[in-house]
Amino acid sequence: MSPTIGVLALQGDVREHLSALERLGADTLAVRRPSELEACDAIVLPGGESTTMIKLARIFDVLDPLAERVRAGMPAFGTCAGMILLADRLRDGAPGQTTIGGLDVTVRRNAFGRQVDSFEGPVTVRGLDRPVHGVFIRAPWVEQAGPDVEVLASVGVTGPRPDEVGDRIVAVRQGPLMATSFHPEVGDDDRVHGLFVDLVRQQ
Ligand code: GLN
Repeated sequence: MSPTIGVLALQGDVREHLSALERLGADTLAVRRPSELEACDAIVLPGGESTTMIKLARIFDVLDPLAERVRAGMPAFGTCAGMILLADRLRDGAPGQTTIGGLDVTVRRNAFGRQVDSFEGPVTVRGLDRPVHGVFIRAPWVEQAGPDVEVLASVGVTGPRPDEVGDRIVAVRQGPLMATSFHPEVGDDDRVHGLFVDLVRQQ
């Protein structure tokens, strides 16, 4: 049976995720309400604006059920703002900004800074034979990752500040959870979503 993969549809680039998942043969559902979440085997948390998404999730009464499902082991894939939502620890969040958590990582919001606010480029992802075209839009990065976190991709950063020089983690996996700083739903390369669909099917 093909798994039902939901996309949290409160804000952000929902349609592109639904299309990518459908091209991979998954049954999909746009999730706004707890009943829709219940019908899902897994969920994608899209890019957008993490503060807005958390606020809307609370208003739609889907925040607590979502956190409970993630804690209970439901596979989840967060892209960009979605990566922020899955982080256990957040730097440079808005005042009082909370997350759903689940990933044992510290994520820095809007990490790439003004000079390189948004950029695109090849990203080598573990498990894929060719690089993907990474689209980064006011993206976060993973600043620190716990021992159970597998790094799937890093990019070299050569910013003007000394602490911006080096490799930054932009894709991770920890058990049933996956997150990317970039937007794999942009364009027609579905391979990163494919990694998530494989992960869901293995559960
Ligand atoms: N900077 C955004 C945030 O903090 C994320 C940007 C994105 O998802 N493209 O939520």
